[in-house]
Amino acid sequence: MITMKFGGTSIQDADAITRVTGIVRASLPKSPVVVISAIAQATNALEKIGKSAGEGNAAAAKEEIDTLLRRHITIVNRLIRTEGLKKDLAEYIAETGVSLNNLASGVEMLRELTPRTMDAFYSFGELLSSRIVAAALVDTGISAQWLDSKDFLVTDDNFNRARPIMHIVEERLLKIVPPLLKAGKVPVTQGFIGVTVSGHRTTMGRESSDYTGSLIGGALGAEAIEIWTDVTGVLTADPRIVENPIQVKHLTFAEAYELTYFGAKVLHPSTMHPAEARNIPIDILNSLDPSLEGTRVSTVIPGGGPAVKSVTYRKDVSVLTLTPMKRHGQYIFWEHIYGVLTERRAEALLMNTAEYRVAIVLKSADASEDIREALKDVCHAEIRPGKALLCAVGENMVNVCGVPERFLRAVGSRPVYFLSLGASPNSLAAVIDAEVIEETVRRAHAEFFTR
Ligand code: ADP
Ligand code: ASP
Ligand code: MG
Repeated sequence: MITMKFGGTSIQDADAITRVTGIVRASLPKSPVVVISAIAQATNALEKIGKSAGEGNAAAAKEEIDTLLRRHITIVNRLIRTEGLKKDLAEYIAETGVSLNNLASGVEMLRELTPRTMDAFYSFGELLSSRIVAAALVDTGISAQWLDSKDFLVTDDNFNRARPIMHIVEERLLKIVPPLLKAGKVPVTQGFIGVTVSGHRTTMGRESSDYTGSLIGGALGAEAIEIWTDVTGVLTADPRIVENPIQVKHLTFAEAYELTYFGAKVLHPSTMHPAEARNIPIDILNSLDPSLEGTRVSTVIPGGGPAVKSVTYRKDVSVLTLTPMKRHGQYIFWEHIYGVLTERRAEALLMNTAEYRVAIVLKSADASEDIREALKDVCHAEIRPGKALLCAVGENMVNVCGVPERFLRAVGSRPVYFLSLGASPNSLAAVIDAEVIEETVRRAHAEFFTR
């Protein structure tokens, strides 16, 4: 069997879903399990609904709910031919409207939007879209079976960034899915959302539908995990910034992980974990043209490949620099620093040590005054906010001379606040001013791919 995950743009309207039904039909011999994201922008709309409600702005929440429902109704009317299916979906959308409005009223009254309630809002996006895709498949004669992820995707209660409890997920999936596949059914379920043991909806972080596709594939021992999106696989740079980037044919799990961790939006970084653990290849494919060969992420890379496979960036970083009060050895405050980061669940994206000083690159959201405050007993902590990280990725870069020189040439004479090389053999990174990141990405791309 295989898992096929379709992203928001791949199901954004009736035409897109029609393409998806064709893609699934062509894969029927491989026994697919289909994982669906919310339609494009629906999750952002749900976030706005939650926030408007939390601010007591009932009119804005209501308007956003209506727009979202209308988009789904338009899709159903254009897509579904069988009257019975159309009617069921219309009812389901109307019920969703009632639930969303009730939820919004509750939040408006309390003027408080908790992470748990936000997850309740979020869940409607995938519930709606997966219903529609399942019905569209049935409408074209494919025996699809809609599955509610609450029946198997059990997570912890870390709302907004929940983690699956894998032994439960695996046990339930193995009970539910193989009989369906055996009966020739195509299970269709939701990405991104899960449920706590006590039955509250959770989400596993924005963009995590890719991860759902992969963890379901891992649990069921899939032959391949397919991620269908709106580009032909991973490119040498973000196509929204660089004109005509080149397709990367193969990536190792480590390369794909670092590329996405350091900003390439095409895949959620966690996608690689279940796939790598079971050695299942991930194929990133273009739903706009399924005949094109995409990018394969696997352990085996034919022929090694170029030193740098792709350049990436993220704009949301800050550099935290720590200097101890006295020139003690680092071991005196090392544990304290880690303790503070761990307590606040702040992830050190990169870290450097020079004698007794430490510099840490954090997501800006993690680089809070609160962290500085918590560290002030042991060191002077300084935060440089609003920076951006440029990163070149490629497993072969350590074997090729001159990569750092070329990387720095692309950075040019701009200030560099942090440089990282060595901790990972697969990547080279620099933190620079956010205002110049896009032009620097273009220079780095030109340096590595168009000379
Ligand atoms: P989906 O909705 O299918 O999950 P996403 O929008 O999350 O799709 O991811 C696909 C998008 O990622 C592409 O449209 C592209 O703009 C962006 N992207 C950023 N960096 C890269 C890259 N290196 N290679 C391919 N796409 C990239
Ligand atoms: N719909 C969710 C989001 O927009 C999950 C995903 O698309 O991967 O974040
Ligand atoms: Mg995505």
